[in-house]
Amino acid sequence: MMKFIKATKMKLLVLILLIVFLFGCTGVDVSNQNVSNNSYSLLKVHFLDVGQADSILIQFPNGETALIDGGNREDGRFVVEYIEKMGISRINYIIATHPHEDHIGGLPEVIKSFDIGKVYMPNKTSNTRIFKNLLEEIKNKGLKIIQAKGGLSIIDTEDLKFTIIAPNSEKYDETNEYSIVNKLIYKNTSFIFTGDAEKDSEEEMIKLGYNLKADVLKVGHHGGRTSTNYEFLKRVNPKFAVISVGKDNDYGHPHKEVLKRLDKMGIKVFRTDELGTIIATSDGYKINFNKEIVKNNDDATKNERDKKIIYIGNKKTKVYHTTTCKSLPKQENRVIFNSKEEAEKAGYRPHKNCIE
Ligand SMILES: [Zn+2]
Ligand SMILES: [Zn+2]
Repeated sequence: MMKFIKATKMKLLVLILLIVFLFGCTGVDVSNQNVSNNSYSLLKVHFLDVGQADSILIQFPNGETALIDGGNREDGRFVVEYIEKMGISRINYIIATHPHEDHIGGLPEVIKSFDIGKVYMPNKTSNTRIFKNLLEEIKNKGLKIIQAKGGLSIIDTEDLKFTIIAPNSEKYDETNEYSIVNKLIYKNTSFIFTGDAEKDSEEEMIKLGYNLKADVLKVGHHGGRTSTNYEFLKRVNPKFAVISVGKDNDYGHPHKEVLKRLDKMGIKVFRTDELGTIIATSDGYKINFNKEIVKNNDDATKNERDKKIIYIGNKKTKVYHTTTCKSLPKQENRVIFNSKEEAEKAGYRPHKNCIE
């Protein structure tokens, strides 16, 4: 009897494997297969322009989303509208790096506005009103807080890994040092997001032997001199650095010393105070930045840059848009094209309002 069941199970398994092999199991509609593969293979990281604050939206290639910090309280509306514009209704992971207002300020509004999966916070409380607001909204939604700690994994698949590599101690003198630091790896490309982590946390990450190498570094503490120390920078060894910072801020961020350290290593720096919202897109092998951020570059790079612009098509209407268009399709109806030609070849026509 057992043998018979085993044999039947075996046959069933072979049959399933055969079906999967023949018809694929991607779940994307087959009629569009030549182009729709793209829409599920890109990682997009948006460094939102929230002034002297942090807010980073991540669209993972598997369709999930994360938000690291939500800017100041007055940025809440902007962050919510930006995420809505991307056609996102669910944020799978909220990371509140540490309880300073320039990081958690906009999060109560975000949590109110979207379907939320998991919320990660460090083991650090605050007596501020905004911190209490945040806890209230989390409670109102029936969400639980997951305590963030170095070594905790958020996404762990072969191609995509999203992990927490700090904080690594129970107690620090500075609230900034409690910052959650995330590492994101998508195939051959990688990012590190440091919140406001400073020297102590950086030294711990080195000492604990985390693999810190990353292509893109979100510079710690808005470019403050007590973060991004040389030893840490050497381990990360990034090609690109993003500084989230407000114009003419009271702290003098980013500090000259930090800019010098980055410059010395030949790292290309992108700043939100100069460029507005910065979007990095990875196909797993190469990272491209959106056109706006290279606007200060000379003409020599213009052609190169034009090639990198991507367009978003709507599978339903067969219309394609620029990434900044106000009427972008819902996430599930999106298909990404790397050029207008590619879109037109696939039978899509331009949206009049956003494409000249
Ligand atoms: Zn801080
Ligand atoms: Zn900060």
